[in-house]
Amino acid sequence: MLNIALFGPPGAGKGTQSEKLIQKYNLLYISTGDILRKEIASGSELGKKINEITSQGHLVSDELIMQIIHKTIAESPHVNGILFDGFPRNLSQAKLLEELMEELQMPFTGVLSLEVPREELIARLINRGKVSGRSDDKEDVIIERLKEYESKTLPVAEYFTKKGNFHPVKGVGSLDEIFDRLVAEIEKHRK
Ligand code: ADP
Repeated sequence: MLNIALFGPPGAGKGTQSEKLIQKYNLLYISTGDILRKEIASGSELGKKINEITSQGHLVSDELIMQIIHKTIAESPHVNGILFDGFPRNLSQAKLLEELMEELQMPFTGVLSLEVPREELIARLINRGKVSGRSDDKEDVIIERLKEYESKTLPVAEYFTKKGNFHPVKGVGSLDEIFDRLVAEIEKHRK
């Protein structure tokens, strides 16, 4: 069983690499960002509230995130493992992830972190904004998302590093090169 959190700043390539990883290892994919965007697209009241927060580059509440994660897992009871993308994003979510794994009696394999320099991230996100239509892929919001990442999300890296299950991977190069690095890291740490 393989339960991984793919970690890294906005624009690190988590979504792209996730697609390849879930295929290779047949994992349940939980992208909190994708699920939130679907809720926004549905036009629901909840979606409107989420949009107000995400379009400013801020994080939505831990309660909402845990609700959508529990719901996604309940809908797919028999899985080989889970790939989390975009979660955990702050220290309290890191602890909630560990509790969730215990509750489900699933072993947590660890955090794989895609490491990409800041200038490259900004360039990638501005480019993506031209085609994605995402309301948060605009320069001022990108800067805000990176700030949120540095203040709230980076402590998660430190938390798992202390526990010995944080594994950095170079996130620059061709898609296949980066994928091969991720797979090599997974093979080293899977239980
Ligand atoms: P990116 O990593 O490119 O910023 P995501 O698609 O992972 O994008 O997330 C988009 C937005 O959704 C975030 O900026 C944040 O507002 C919200 N979000 C996603 N995941 C979480 C989470 N685990 N906790 C709080 N907010 C989240």
